[in-house]
Amino acid sequence: MNTLTEEITVLVQGKTVPDALTSLADRFPERIVFSTSFGIEDQVITHFIFDNNLPIRVFTLETGRLFPETYYVWNRTLETYKKEIEAYFPDTHAVQQLISQKGPSSFYESVENRKECCRIRKIEPLKRALEGAECWITGIRANQSDNRQGMSQVEWDAGHELVKFHPIYHWSLDDVWEYARTHHIPYNPLHDKGFPSIGCAPCTRAIGEGEDFRAGRWWWEDKSKKECGLHAT
Ligand code: SF4
Repeated sequence: MNTLTEEITVLVQGKTVPDALTSLADRFPERIVFSTSFGIEDQVITHFIFDNNLPIRVFTLETGRLFPETYYVWNRTLETYKKEIEAYFPDTHAVQQLISQKGPSSFYESVENRKECCRIRKIEPLKRALEGAECWITGIRANQSDNRQGMSQVEWDAGHELVKFHPIYHWSLDDVWEYARTHHIPYNPLHDKGFPSIGCAPCTRAIGEGEDFRAGRWWWEDKSKKECGLHAT
């Protein structure tokens, strides 16, 4: 843990989510961002930020392969809060080259191809979105996957050289839904159809009873390889 991470851990300790976010917004003026993919966890954090008028920049990665239901909740969120959500697109030339050379579904053919598509559509745009940021807020929860259980609520992201804070890291899924329902937060209708974790349409399916939270993401791959690289530290 580096000095900044230690400082931030102390700063947010014992605080409610809005109080912790307010302290961080004060600590990192104009250098704090939140990334949303419009899943229920992200919608709860969006609510905390917009409802409290916090000066935290909110952005999303528009991969070009999202579900219609994701666009629906994106629009509902804009209507509800009347605040800006910045959209980051992949580089046009890189997408054209990928599709021209490998077709529109190369991600099913190998882990390398899937990572290449994620790199073009997510990782590179994310780098642009995080430029100048010193603190990155995410909707990660510990019990979303084995990999996420090993993270900390405050951590140093060496790849992007910033501090990450996961405000609802210790919340259960029931906690998230209870908060969302109590505060009438708009949500992606796919959650009602067995999709706990929602990414790009060709790479996300519903999960069955007893399946792992992230079993529906890149379901054709080995479990240990199923992070897209956005949260590799
Ligand atoms: Fe491409 Fe699938 Fe990754 Fe989306 S999740 S960027 S479609 S490989």
